[in-house]
Amino acid sequence: MKAIVFERNGGCEVLRYTETPTPKAGPNDVVIQVKASACNFNDIWARRGLPGMKIILPHISGSDASGVVVETGSEVRNVRVGDEVVVHCGISCRECDYCTRGEEFFCPQFKIWGFQTGPLDGAHGDYCRVPAVNVLPKPRNLSHVEAATMPLVLVTVWRMLVTRARIQAGDFVLIWGAAGGLGVMAIQVAKLYNARPIAVASSDDKLELCSQLGAEFVLHRKKHDVFQEVRKITNGRRADIVFEHTGSDTWPLSMQCLKWGGTIVTCGATSGFDAHMDIRLLWNKQQNYLGSHLGNKGELMDAMRFVERGLIKPVVGKVLPLREIAHAQELMETNTIAGKIAMIPPAAA
Ligand code: NDP
Repeated sequence: MKAIVFERNGGCEVLRYTETPTPKAGPNDVVIQVKASACNFNDIWARRGLPGMKIILPHISGSDASGVVVETGSEVRNVRVGDEVVVHCGISCRECDYCTRGEEFFCPQFKIWGFQTGPLDGAHGDYCRVPAVNVLPKPRNLSHVEAATMPLVLVTVWRMLVTRARIQAGDFVLIWGAAGGLGVMAIQVAKLYNARPIAVASSDDKLELCSQLGAEFVLHRKKHDVFQEVRKITNGRRADIVFEHTGSDTWPLSMQCLKWGGTIVTCGATSGFDAHMDIRLLWNKQQNYLGSHLGNKGELMDAMRFVERGLIKPVVGKVLPLREIAHAQELMETNTIAGKIAMIPPAAA
């Protein structure tokens, strides 16, 4: 099969569009013919290499796929050949005390498929292999392209806003990177809960998209004073929730924009891990700083019910042939894409 493989960390030049063996299903696995995969920022972290995290080489990235099951392992009962499926990318033992409590991300064996798995593995090929327990039926109202762009960002946002930050009707939610992969879902989940999204992005086109998705307020981070605008919008009260993933560049401002007793929830640090923090705010203002990482399969299933009803929609910014993945990653690294990028492998073209 054709796939995107890298054998060393580095820039986009390490990505090779090449022939690799088609995966075979183990007893508890399924093999999927990939109709579309999606680019996530973890593809870029894996390619660059991350301090403290082992990226297994050679590596096929890709944590989101939509496709058709073509092989099932001898022990698989929940899926059949021919089923149209999407993938939940949290891999864990499913037996330990954490897994059985729905806290699979604390499992000692937890890995994000297509990021921490390998050698090879991952969605960016003609075929991929995943544990059968990790597949879910593709929502019938979505194309494969739309479906591929949904699971990772949706489950992450659901856990951040619904499970961790406990979003409520009327909450002002300040959303950084609001036209990005997470952001477009965060706006829609906030609207679903009758909250009041304040979307931040870096171009007028992106802000137009945010408005179309339901953002009540939009701020251009290069033209507006975000702090002063948030004060104006909230009548001095500031945001109830700040949706963070942008890291060191925005963290101090996120703390400033947060109301007394409010909640910052974060899952990432695109601009850097080291952020300045005035810890007086923590006690004086009794603010809550919450970390969040992916989500469990149950949370994805909860969120997908709203996708099936058309209340949350995938936002596909670009569709490219798989061989052009370097271009896709450059678009993400330069913040020039709104929504998600879907890749079409040659066997599905
Ligand atoms: P995208 O590239 O799709 O969107 C990120 C957005 O962040 C960009 O569109 C850009 O928007 C904004 N941004 C980038 N740099 C800055 C900056 N210095 N200041 C302000 N805004 C900035 O990525 P995703 O939304 O998919 O992911 C975002 C981050 O979250 C990544 O670091 C990713 O690894 C992490 N993540 C973590 C997960 C987890 O489970 N822990 C799961 C998913 C993602 P604009 O320029 O328009 O402002």
